[in-house]
Amino acid sequence: MNIQIIQAKSALHKLKSNRLPFPYDLNIYRGCMHKCIYCYAIYSHKYMESDDYYETIFVKENIAEVLDKELSKIKEKGTINLGGVCDSYQPLEKKFKLMRDVLTVLIKHKWPANISTKSTLILRDLDLWKQLSKVAPVNIAFTVTTTHDDIAKQIERGASSSTSRLEAAAIIKKETFATLGIHLMPIIPYLTDHKDSLHDLYKFAYDHDFDYILPGMMYLRGQTRKVFFQSIRQTHPQYHTKLQHMYQNREFKRDYRTHLYTYIGQLRKQYPLTHDAKQSHKQEKLF
Ligand code: SF4
Repeated sequence: MNIQIIQAKSALHKLKSNRLPFPYDLNIYRGCMHKCIYCYAIYSHKYMESDDYYETIFVKENIAEVLDKELSKIKEKGTINLGGVCDSYQPLEKKFKLMRDVLTVLIKHKWPANISTKSTLILRDLDLWKQLSKVAPVNIAFTVTTTHDDIAKQIERGASSSTSRLEAAAIIKKETFATLGIHLMPIIPYLTDHKDSLHDLYKFAYDHDFDYILPGMMYLRGQTRKVFFQSIRQTHPQYHTKLQHMYQNREFKRDYRTHLYTYIGQLRKQYPLTHDAKQSHKQEKLF
């Protein structure tokens, strides 16, 4: 593991896409120890002049200080997404505790935030999430691709188990004022598309009164495609050729998608939860 401590010149990255429900992105780390085999953010390491996204992690030690200065200058508040190209609660955060400083700054400025994580380390900061969600709109999402812990361990090698993520999500829903969602993505043919897993995730989200569940298929391109197929060859060689056939282009075959979304449609009828994460941001009007 190669840890590089760096000083950030800026904290917020202004997002240009209107499709996202937040205008800013903030990444405390670059690189991610969760080592998901389908990680879309691998490309981002190119800009850090490193080609090892999983093993070379850049740590922006002064991020909270820089963020504090930047927020003092912005007149119109807009949600900050905490970690667009890494997981803010990856294992290194246990040591650096930078999320605590960032949350303290957000509480000071009563600033809206969004986060998606695969780590139960977020529970360490439950007190701060509680405080922030009292003074500003907050959305917390857990990405859970499958309820099968053995498969999750193979495809999200450094993340918390799916079972513990769901338990953590239920605690956060109960203990904070944040809206809570499950990001059921990416759905990977043969690996995370089992009907029992999809069903159990919808049921869990519904039974625990979560605000939304957001399913999404896996797309493959560039470096991600290469890393994915290298990993599949080692962990699930029986699916390698089938997956290559299915992903001849960056997308899966259309008939597969139709079949899958028909089943998801049935689940939505059984467990009526919105797929629209933006719905959860309706609470912004309350502040
Ligand atoms: S948690 Fe997210 S950023 Fe980290 S490796 Fe997995 S997909 Fe990539």
